[in-house]
Amino acid sequence: MPEPLTTSELLDLDRRHVWHPYGPMPGRQEPLPVASATGVRLRLAEPVAGHRELVDGMSSWWSAIHGYNHPVLNEAARGQLERMSHVMFGGLTHEPAVRLAKRLVDITPEGLEHVFLADSGSVSVEVAVKMCLQYWRSVGRPDKRRLLTWRGGYHGDTWQPMSVCDPDGGMHHLWSGALPRQVFAPRPPDGFDAGPDEAYARRLRELIARHADELAAVIVEPVVQGAGGMRFHSPAYLRVLREACDAHGVLLVLDEIATGFGRTGALFAAGHAGVSPDVLCVGKALTGGYLTLAATLCTGEVARGIAEGEVPVLAHGPTFMGNPLAAAVADASLGLLLAQDWAGEVKRIEAGLRESLAAAEGAPGVRDVRVLGAIGVVELDREVDMAAATRAAVEHGVWLRPFRDLVYTMPPYVTGDEDVARIGAAVCAAAAAGRGR
Ligand SMILES: *Cc1c(COP(=O)(O)O)cnc(C)c1O
Repeated sequence: MPEPLTTSELLDLDRRHVWHPYGPMPGRQEPLPVASATGVRLRLAEPVAGHRELVDGMSSWWSAIHGYNHPVLNEAARGQLERMSHVMFGGLTHEPAVRLAKRLVDITPEGLEHVFLADSGSVSVEVAVKMCLQYWRSVGRPDKRRLLTWRGGYHGDTWQPMSVCDPDGGMHHLWSGALPRQVFAPRPPDGFDAGPDEAYARRLRELIARHADELAAVIVEPVVQGAGGMRFHSPAYLRVLREACDAHGVLLVLDEIATGFGRTGALFAAGHAGVSPDVLCVGKALTGGYLTLAATLCTGEVARGIAEGEVPVLAHGPTFMGNPLAAAVADASLGLLLAQDWAGEVKRIEAGLRESLAAAEGAPGVRDVRVLGAIGVVELDREVDMAAATRAAVEHGVWLRPFRDLVYTMPPYVTGDEDVARIGAAVCAAAAAGRGR
């Protein structure tokens, strides 16, 4: 083992050499060094504001649904490590990948039969887009290569996903001239419980009909738009999209990378609407936050279309495709999820967040407070002062990562009631501090 770095050495090297998400180089805001993590607690290398441990309100960006250092996931990783951590997937196969694929086919919406294992969410979206474009090319409709989505979405940071992220508020407007030009519908009306707005539904149908000849697919995040603005909409719009796509020969891609595996109260958010897509992307919570892994699932029809084309293969094959270590942990994580009353746990957290976030309702500068499943959001009337909001959360012993005008939380499903209340209080405090004085 090399000599451990002191905290100041670590921070100095980090600032000089290491990119962080959406960060400048050299870094401007000092990250918090984490030494370890167990259950729902991150253990810091040094105490901050009197706290050596922080309750994790973020699940490491939707992923660590079972908490950290979980004995079952550790065991799955250890066992697989001793067999093999990786072998190439070209020409070889192995039990972890096959088991995982079978399980995904079993638990995802009906009709999805084939699984492409990718190494990150963004790559799974690239693969989804490639599948759709190639499907239409193969069946003799090569002009169908644009995508339609609604505004306010987020689908990742690589090229195709960037082209369907929200073009205005999003992080990628810098590239608007360089990206493929997709078709954008207005943002879906707010509110999970709001009845469908008929005028909006008509608008969706009309747009799909008008562009049908050039559209390969509609791609959206079902029910919850995540990093594009943490907004919830009526599941009814998914049925509108499904019907319009079927009527006009357009494929439907659902990006459940954030919403999948129970987060919204349904195992997959598409389940709120009883809709099955032609192509589905999952990621984030897939490995319980242990390793990077995502998957693109498609129907037999899509796979057949591609197979019957002039180029019958899907030309995509990441070096670490099907990584056995990640697949073994993912399968164990799904086993853990399905063996418990996950819906009850998510409901419990939902109730706790509703109660604790009520304090922010009507507070100065708060535009909206919303909760769905194990997701709680406080939207401000201005950009959050990140440093002030983060500090306020840390003073409450909680880790949060606000963005834009949002202070939000999606705790691990194992978060106890007291910790949920603490996270809720920290969100309220961060919102108050984050709107400035
Ligand atoms: C996070 C996310 C992605 C991108 O996943 P990465 O693993 O970060 O590449 C895509 N779509 C949605 C809905 C996401 O939340």
